[in-house]
Amino acid sequence: MLVLKFGGTSVESAERIRQVVDLCAQAKSPQKVVVLSAMSGVTNALIDGAEKALARDLGGALSQIEAIRKRHLDAITALLGTSQAGLALKDELASRLDELSILYKGVSYLGELTRRSLDAVSGLGELLSSRLVAEFAIQSGHKAVWLDAREFLITDEVYGKANPRWDVLTPKAQTHILPHTQAGTIVFTQGFIGRTESGASTTLGRGGSDYSASIVGVALNSNEIQIWTDVDGMMTADPRVVPEARVLPEVSFQEASELAYFGAKVLHPLTIKPAIEKNIPVRILNTMRPDQPGTLIKSAAQATETIRAVAAKKGITAIFLSSPRMLMSHGFLSQIFALFDRYKTPIDLIATSEISVSLTIDQTDYLSELKEALLEHGEVRTSSDVAIVSVVGRQFREQSGIAGRVFSALKDINIVMISGGASDINLSFVVSRDDADKAMKQLHAEFFP
Ligand code: ADP
Ligand code: ASP
Ligand code: MG
Repeated sequence: MLVLKFGGTSVESAERIRQVVDLCAQAKSPQKVVVLSAMSGVTNALIDGAEKALARDLGGALSQIEAIRKRHLDAITALLGTSQAGLALKDELASRLDELSILYKGVSYLGELTRRSLDAVSGLGELLSSRLVAEFAIQSGHKAVWLDAREFLITDEVYGKANPRWDVLTPKAQTHILPHTQAGTIVFTQGFIGRTESGASTTLGRGGSDYSASIVGVALNSNEIQIWTDVDGMMTADPRVVPEARVLPEVSFQEASELAYFGAKVLHPLTIKPAIEKNIPVRILNTMRPDQPGTLIKSAAQATETIRAVAAKKGITAIFLSSPRMLMSHGFLSQIFALFDRYKTPIDLIATSEISVSLTIDQTDYLSELKEALLEHGEVRTSSDVAIVSVVGRQFREQSGIAGRVFSALKDINIVMISGGASDINLSFVVSRDDADKAMKQLHAEFFP
């Protein structure tokens, strides 16, 4: 069994969709499941439309629908022309977009956009793209079927960032998918979306199609999970920021998780977690250059370098708490952590001194409540325009001089906070958001000359 996931740029046009279907047909495995993202930009357009509707800009919301309609109509016409299948798909597109406009109107009239309704809106892009890819595969003569992922990908009710309900989804995935794949039919389905047991649509969080692919791969005991994207593999840095970045042929599960968590967008941070449990290798490949070897992520990866890659995670908030009460006292940190627990806010990085604690968070839903609660413990300052820059590698504790090289590479950049030594494979620090790219470039030049 092979699970292949294609990202937004891989399905963004008729030309790309032809490539995707060819790649799926050529893939060497008797059983294949293909997990698809929305066309690139469509999820953003859907969310933007919902926000415009909420702001009572219904005209703006409806113009997003027209932009989405045009993207899909162009691709349907190019791939299926005026065939019966093409016309049927155009009708289906029209009715799904009619439903979307009803949703937008509801949001606009009620002046309310719940996370639950946002999930119903934002998952539409995957349904549209996957219908087209599957239909094109069938009309091209391949044995293929389209399945609605919500029939088997059952999640909890954390709208916007739902978690898999393994106990329910594993048997469902097997009963829905295996009869097709065992008959040699390629299954096309959606990434990103799921459904609660009570039937409401959910999403796994932005970039979550990678995660869907690994959930399906684990549920079906697949031999490999392939993530097809627009770069040649996992690289030493984001190639959009550092054009000299190189492809890493092999990466360990741990390194890949760390890089994804600290900003390497090529992989959703949770993708590797299920794969580790079943020791399923994950391969990153380029849809536009399928002859390239890509990156193989597995348990024991071959590598000799100490420093493997640099990454940056933007859109982070730093919280600085200082309190003389901390001096020589005990139990202080546990009180602080209890507040983050109460407001369900995970902490990314932390640094402490005798009288102060600095932390970074990614989720700011309860920031004002947190701030208020923290004020009872001391002075609080927050900064929401910071980024975490990380160096990821191996056996940092056994090497001397890494921190020295990092700091000399960043000597002209103001480092707001440092969190090193907690892990053997990561050195992270916080800089202002505007310095993040520069820091990444300078670190890359230092470690990958
Ligand atoms: P997809 O739509 O296929 O899921 P994404 O845009 O989510 O693709 O992820 C691919 C992008 O990740 C690349 O275009 C690249 O700019 C970015 N990226 C960030 N860090 C890395 C890295 N270390 N290696 C490769 N790509 C990276
Ligand atoms: N389409 C979704 C997003 O843009 C999921 C994905 O592409 O992975 O976030
Ligand atoms: Mg992605």
